[in-house]
Amino acid sequence: MSKPQLVFATRNPGKVREIAQMLSDHYDIVGLDAIGCTEDIPETAPTIPGNAIQKAEYVLEHYGAHCFADDTGLEVTALDGAPGVHTARYAGNAKNADANMAKLLDALDREANRTARFRTVIALTTPEGTQTFEGVCEGHIAVKRSGAEGFGYDPVFVPEGGTVTFAEMDAADKNAISHRGRAVRAMVEELKARG
Ligand code: IMP
Repeated sequence: MSKPQLVFATRNPGKVREIAQMLSDHYDIVGLDAIGCTEDIPETAPTIPGNAIQKAEYVLEHYGAHCFADDTGLEVTALDGAPGVHTARYAGNAKNADANMAKLLDALDREANRTARFRTVIALTTPEGTQTFEGVCEGHIAVKRSGAEGFGYDPVFVPEGGTVTFAEMDAADKNAISHRGRAVRAMVEELKARG
């Protein structure tokens, strides 16, 4: 019997593969390319959950597909929660990870309180409605970059209880405690419960 299709609103094949493996008994997980969605989906909401919901509902509305979408932000306590919803474009529209980290380290220069957290929200949308799942990873911003694994702000983020950055951890260890890993597992539990 064929499995129901569920679209992940992303063009990142690595992200699709990761969740496809977790749900392989229940769903056929595909990315945006598989449904012919090549346009940029609007992400104009003022909050992280708002952007995840906007993306997932766009796919249902325009392609009639059951869908989930994720959105992540880095919230730094001493910066009143910034960059937050602006995390990807903190240093400008180029979405450049190195420039983003440079701006962040500069903003925290000589700041004693370096507490921060990553927050991921996943929105799951079907014709029955939208449900959200959140994953948070507490930690702090290091004084300089370390490590070469991962992506984005990984070289400057040290998860709580640890001494190394995400960029010094292997993918499985990061996944076990990361914001995205937690949000994904919460959604997977719900989808398995739905059958
Ligand atoms: P997105 O919502 O996945 O596009 O992520 C928004 C921003 O947060 C981008 O600048 C990403 O590079 C950054 N980001 C998301 N997740 C992580 C992570 O696990 N480590 C480091 N940076 C991340």
